[in-house]
Amino acid sequence: MALADSSPRQRRRCWFVVESLFDWADPTTAHFWEAASKEQLVIQQCGACRQYQFYPRPFCLACDSDDIGWVAASGRGTVYSQTTVHLKAAPELGLVTPYVVAVVQLEEGPRLLTNLTGEACRIGSPVQVGWRSRQGQAPVPVFGPATP
Ligand SMILES: [Zn+2]
Repeated sequence: MALADSSPRQRRRCWFVVESLFDWADPTTAHFWEAASKEQLVIQQCGACRQYQFYPRPFCLACDSDDIGWVAASGRGTVYSQTTVHLKAAPELGLVTPYVVAVVQLEEGPRLLTNLTGEACRIGSPVQVGWRSRQGQAPVPVFGPATP
């Protein structure tokens, strides 16, 4: 039996469905967004085994420790994978097509889903973080060609 839209029951939301884009932070991601508001890229590091990880989690993926801290990332990495999006599937994002979605492998090891800003970026290209500002919200990290 389907619930009517006016049902007082809360609907379960998938993690990737957000009503207000990035206008939220839970205790696990709050430090990331606080740093992002100052255009600082931070990642988590385990206090027990020193493993880096991203995206933020309340425990270490390598050893299950909950001794998780935050460290500044170098902001440098390489393009691990990329694709160019030509279809404007989510106009609410305000992205001008075509745009490049990429997975960047940070120098520290974790991979980050992001956008590429430089046309010269290819798989394996060295890149460095930049920031895309958003009105009323913390900027998001994007990556462009690394400068020497
Ligand atoms: Zn660990």
